[in-house]
Amino acid sequence: MPYIVALTGGIGSGKTTVANEFAKLGVPLVDADVIARQVVEPNTPALESIKRHFGDGVILPNRDLNRQCLREIIFSKPDEKKWLNDLLHPLIQQETQKQFQQVNYPYLLWVVPLLIENNIHHLADRVLVVDVTVEEQIQRTLKRDKTSLEQVTNILNAQVSREKRLSYANDIITNHSHDTDLSDKVAAFHNQYLTLAKIKK
Ligand code: ATP
Repeated sequence: MPYIVALTGGIGSGKTTVANEFAKLGVPLVDADVIARQVVEPNTPALESIKRHFGDGVILPNRDLNRQCLREIIFSKPDEKKWLNDLLHPLIQQETQKQFQQVNYPYLLWVVPLLIENNIHHLADRVLVVDVTVEEQIQRTLKRDKTSLEQVTNILNAQVSREKRLSYANDIITNHSHDTDLSDKVAAFHNQYLTLAKIKK
């Protein structure tokens, strides 16, 4: 099993931007959002169970899961949310472990936005937090997603606070809008992780 570095950060902090810098150096990525989508692709047992439980209304005409519809159903129904989590979490865990094991490199970057919210930080050897101000998060997300301030605030409020996230960090990478040395910072962490991976072996 390679050494596992979890990369986390709040909405719009720059996780994808930072992950792309690691990828440029040849570091393999495992993306928690991609896995969460893979386990409910059309024809998967999980999607079939969801359809049986919630009805055809949660399936789009192209047979994909209607995430928006499902989110609305579980939003006000804790029992349904629990049912869904009980179904999906073991499948996500299993697929994550499988992808970890397939990596043939000293370490991997596990890009996992809700690492702390989902209480899965113990699965990583090291936690790297992308840190920016809340104002920067809001500005970037509004610009990128053409969404409302209310919606961004709701998402921010559903995530852990900046302080709490930082309290879980082994390493912090700042990604402020005025920073120009992101690739240098990533290169320094990369060397550190190669060394740590060697020590762990
Ligand atoms: P989410 O969790 O919401 O998907 P994320 O943490 O992956 O977001 P990115 O998609 O990398 O964040 O970045 C959010 C937006 O901010 C993007 O449009 C990106 O181009 C922009 N951005 C990232 N880093 C910077 C920076 N240093 N300065 C200005 N804009 C940036």
